[in-house]
Amino acid sequence: MKTFRRDKLRRLVEAGRVVVVSSYHYDDNSGSTRSTEPLPVAIMPADWHDRKDGVCYLFPSCFTSKSGTCYESPNGVISLIVHGNSNYDFRIVPATEASAPRVAVVCSECGRRWHVSPNAATLQCAKCNSVDIEVANA
Ligand SMILES: [Zn+2]
Repeated sequence: MKTFRRDKLRRLVEAGRVVVVSSYHYDDNSGSTRSTEPLPVAIMPADWHDRKDGVCYLFPSCFTSKSGTCYESPNGVISLIVHGNSNYDFRIVPATEASAPRVAVVCSECGRRWHVSPNAATLQCAKCNSVDIEVANA
């Protein structure tokens, strides 16, 4: 594993080229939380109310925390350790894919709707794990 510059990661987030593939958080109130739903990553807007559903928001401080670190695995996954109780695994999206319009899809099993990159290799519902996913009619 090699070190990945956190300021570079932040610039990629700002360019909309980072997808979270897994995250882990622990706090005394909610215990440990692990998420494996791929979501686009963005910087937390100045106004909390501007947040959108289906986006993983990071604070600017996540990229500068003193105890934090960031490294790249041989498989291309970028891991950001914010501190001992919070970490993320990211995938960097090629520039062409990031700029492509996202496609609305719907799960045939449970009706869950979300958006994916048109180049997404595999689709699976995060709610019911069905792979019977169809393009949603607008
Ligand atoms: Zn489903």
